[in-house]
Amino acid sequence: MSTNGAPVPPPQPSLSKTTASSNGTVPPSVFTLPQTAQLEALYTIIRDKDTSRGDFLFYSDRIIRLLVEEGLNHLPVVKKTVTTPTGSTYVGVGFEGKICGVSILRAGEAMEAGLREVCRSVRIGKILIQRDEETTQPKLFYSKFPQDIAKRYVLLLDPMLATGGSAIKAVDVLMENGVPEDRIIFINLISSPEGLRTFSEKFPRLKVITGWIDQGLNEKAYIIPGLGDFGERRYCE
Ligand code: URA
Repeated sequence: MSTNGAPVPPPQPSLSKTTASSNGTVPPSVFTLPQTAQLEALYTIIRDKDTSRGDFLFYSDRIIRLLVEEGLNHLPVVKKTVTTPTGSTYVGVGFEGKICGVSILRAGEAMEAGLREVCRSVRIGKILIQRDEETTQPKLFYSKFPQDIAKRYVLLLDPMLATGGSAIKAVDVLMENGVPEDRIIFINLISSPEGLRTFSEKFPRLKVITGWIDQGLNEKAYIIPGLGDFGERRYCE
């Protein structure tokens, strides 16, 4: 209620969030989800440090589902003609090629179920990248991909884009395995502006689908305001 008794409407998300982050303009290869009040409500729940693990799972899964659906909107289609049960001809579209998911372990695994919900029996590869203690650079520890990955569109899954180091390494590995840059779509829940900039400068032809662009990184490379450690909140707390 306001002081004069009239109900106060809830704050509405700013439309400018779809085109600009707090640190500048979003690179052209980056697409955010429509910044609706519903989406902001979902993010408010998962950002809250007092949200239970059960609610964190439920609401982060809802966002992941939206992200996967948006990712699929960016896949090319070709004309496809079918006959309906009325005997009519319908000229529609079908996906041009096959897809697969690749999750960056361990947090990216949390996004696999959301992909499976919308793409039945989708192939999923995995990639484990960790910081090399000697060089401090991201290092590949493990990867397993469908054997025909070079012919597929790849949805790369990792919930948090912080510095961009792991995602860049993951794309390097995919490209070494024959996947062209423009056949990869990177899907994440929250991005830092600096991570987005670094990533999209290196891979300008690779589309990034992100749910929200936050303010920046703290000295420990956590996204601010962020939601803390996604893997800990999802698997441990
Ligand atoms: N990974 C996380 O889980 N959270 C961050 O804020 C950054 C990277």
